[in-house]
Amino acid sequence: MKIYFHVIRRSNGTGGQSIESVNEAFNILNQDFNPHNISFNWDNQIDYIDNDSYYSSPTTAIFNVNNHQDGIDIYLYDDSSSAGGRANGVGQSSEFWVSGSYWKTPNNPLTRSHVISHEMGHVLYLWHTHHGTYNEGGNDNPCPELVNGSNSDTCGDYVTDTPADPHLQFDVNQSTCEWNSSGTDANGDTYNPDEKNVMSYTDVNCMEYFSEGQGERMRNAINTLPYLQQVVTDNCLVQKLSSIEQLCYDNSQTLSISDISNNSTTWQVSSNVTILSSNNSSIIVRATSSNSTGNGWVRAILSNGVSIQEDFEVGIPDRNKITIEHTTNTNGDYVLINNIWSILTSYHQDHNNFIGAEWDWKFEPVGGNMSILTRNDISNRIDVSVSGEGQLIIKTRVYNECGCSLWKDAAFQVKKSSTNPGGLFDGILNKGF
Ligand SMILES: [Zn+2]
Repeated sequence: MKIYFHVIRRSNGTGGQSIESVNEAFNILNQDFNPHNISFNWDNQIDYIDNDSYYSSPTTAIFNVNNHQDGIDIYLYDDSSSAGGRANGVGQSSEFWVSGSYWKTPNNPLTRSHVISHEMGHVLYLWHTHHGTYNEGGNDNPCPELVNGSNSDTCGDYVTDTPADPHLQFDVNQSTCEWNSSGTDANGDTYNPDEKNVMSYTDVNCMEYFSEGQGERMRNAINTLPYLQQVVTDNCLVQKLSSIEQLCYDNSQTLSISDISNNSTTWQVSSNVTILSSNNSSIIVRATSSNSTGNGWVRAILSNGVSIQEDFEVGIPDRNKITIEHTTNTNGDYVLINNIWSILTSYHQDHNNFIGAEWDWKFEPVGGNMSILTRNDISNRIDVSVSGEGQLIIKTRVYNECGCSLWKDAAFQVKKSSTNPGGLFDGILNKGF
């Protein structure tokens, strides 16, 4: 869930919670709510509200200042302000404030209390544990919860695993966290409320946790209440790296990480890739040299432990990975013969045969009385017929967006069939590279 922090200061910009305190508040929230599969995202920005009148007296009017619809607004007052915390209703709206000494536990002024989690609990539709049992006023005033729990799903705070709580007015021993008094319910049963529950009016030094039932109620609220739908961020945030097919030497390319959040990034690249510049969310790379070829990759290692990698081709096609095959229906040989169409095919092992790519072919007769009669270029395939006999050098090269490969050569011996000049072959004479 997305949250925003607002810090209220004097008009001259003095006073107010420190950056460290806000970070601590953020950590307390995640510590208290993460066990219930609820987490908070914060962009590390603090909105400062510099206003003497707001600063001196906490007020719900603050909820109208720089409020957001797409996040929960948390307004933090100075330690010197009057002790308090207030949510804008229960299960009604996504903002609250916390002020004064409620920030700090009585026993350890350096340790923050869980009051901020208490107010967040209200935003996530939790009532006080004494709700209903003790009449707080307001619109929602249900029946008292009984100690035996028989009506705990319809009375009190509507959470069945929080014991009935008569509202003991903070009457708690600060060192033992035991209630000083208790009382009995309508059946005469003695109350034994949970003095460590964050939603009770216990001593702020004793607040410790939410119950499992409270966690479930909050998750239900997050999934159903409209104003909370607006503040939910993707719970399964997965960072992705942009995708590229080919990296050239002449043109650099930028790869970006989606949803970098607060992560810092360590970049790694294959040896045929050079980093021109990088920051936490993107990197600019190019092929290391004009000769660089082959498989390349860029890897981002994020501070949250996630590692993501993009694989691509580097540079021009590698001549060494091109093969030339003769695929005519012959005796499994590699012979070109007089007046017969022969089919040659060139493959590049890394490039999926460059379907749709450009291929060049060259034929260079060596000696003899041989010549090319006809040729028909069809991408990586060529159909050819020759006359005469002798050696034929066949050359092919392939293009990608970085340019064309060096020529790949293959030498074939061509001989006219003596037994069936019209169509049969004599067999393999030679094949060289
Ligand atoms: Zn409360």
